[in-house]
Amino acid sequence: MDLGLKGKVALIGGASRGIGKAVAMGLAREGCLVAICARNEQPLREAADEIRRATGVDVLALACDMARAEDIERFVAGTVERFGRLDIVVNNAGGPPLGAFERHSDEAWQAALDQNFLSAVRTIRAALPHLRKQGGGRIINITSYAVKQPLDGLILSNSVRLAVVGLAKTLSRELGPDNILVNNVCPGPTLTDRMQSLMRSRAENEGRSFEEVAAEENKRIPLGHMGTADDVAALVVFLASEPARQITGTTIQVDGGATGAVF
Ligand code: NAD
Repeated sequence: MDLGLKGKVALIGGASRGIGKAVAMGLAREGCLVAICARNEQPLREAADEIRRATGVDVLALACDMARAEDIERFVAGTVERFGRLDIVVNNAGGPPLGAFERHSDEAWQAALDQNFLSAVRTIRAALPHLRKQGGGRIINITSYAVKQPLDGLILSNSVRLAVVGLAKTLSRELGPDNILVNNVCPGPTLTDRMQSLMRSRAENEGRSFEEVAAEENKRIPLGHMGTADDVAALVVFLASEPARQITGTTIQVDGGATGAVF
């Protein structure tokens, strides 16, 4: 299937590892020019080199914090300056910390909002004029299956990510006439650094071994195993592609069947 992505420009947040990096690699494999960011320069540079080596495409790597408005503006402006256009925006950053309600101060809530909600608002705001100039575009937000079924001990994620779903659905209606399609992709349990560290924390808190927690996690998934970052990236690449031109306003999980909710 020709995905029609050759020569398109994609900007991907939080992409020095994990799902963001897999998305950047997947889009680059289809011929997109990609701009990636992360806060730390060194791992970001290594990820960019790996994508360049594997795909031969041009990669822009800018050290930016998606929780900071000025960094986002610099990221979007730098992408357009380097590649001359912008077609695809993938909103992604690290997830908020674990913990029940009473553990989180106002500062923690604000940090989660900045990193996992306002990051999307700000990136979309900065990107819109450029997408419109191209006659359309794609916005894909990486959220979590927590938006369909809250996860115990992850109240920041459960709350803040639902705002992204409301934002995306509303924007899909507002921006439809401009041919700008907006969708959410919800990773289920996916074996990345984030997942490893969540499982390590749970094992520590509950006085169990990492292996025990991992086996339990796999058992909860109808397919019997966690997904990989590439599994999530496959859906993102499709949603960014020409054949997905009729799909907007959706919230789709990649979770091996782990979500219990019907929709
Ligand atoms: P990860 O921690 O492995 O990778 C996150 C990437 O984002 C890294 O490159 C990191 O450097 C970068 N990053 C983090 N905060 C940033 C910031 N403020 N600004 C710029 N870059 C930043 O995470 P992952 O597993 O790839 O997850 C990606 C997203 O998907 C996260 O929001 C996570 O909560 C969510 N998610 C993951 C899973 C899972 O099982 N892995 C499940 C549900 C949701």
